[in-house]
Amino acid sequence: MNPNDRMTRRQWLGVSVTAAAGLAGASAVAATTTRTAAAALPHLDEKDAQAAALHYVHDAKLVDPKKNPTYKPGQHCANCLQLTGKAGDAWRPCNIFPKHLVAATGWCSVWAKKPGTA
Ligand code: SF4
Repeated sequence: MNPNDRMTRRQWLGVSVTAAAGLAGASAVAATTTRTAAAALPHLDEKDAQAAALHYVHDAKLVDPKKNPTYKPGQHCANCLQLTGKAGDAWRPCNIFPKHLVAATGWCSVWAKKPGTA
């Protein structure tokens, strides 16, 4: 190796700091892109074929317990294991309906308690 090609410690640190800043920036862009993509999803229609098949409703208080014997008061999307996105948002992504947002107040027959929720 030619001694003139060697990086000084200062040059190496400069490259490392630049690379770390680039990775942090890329990560922030990816997170923003994911949030933006989720926000761009349409709201799930209760009449959507999959939604209807899973008895999805926007308001869990309107669930008919006779038709949905697994439903218990207090169950809703916001305390379901399948809900993702930002806590507090009225409409959020759900793993079961990946092309739509569901109402945080909603419910469907796939509901499963999210650990740590009431
Ligand atoms: S799977 Fe959970 S979060 Fe998704 S619609 Fe059904 S109850 Fe709501």
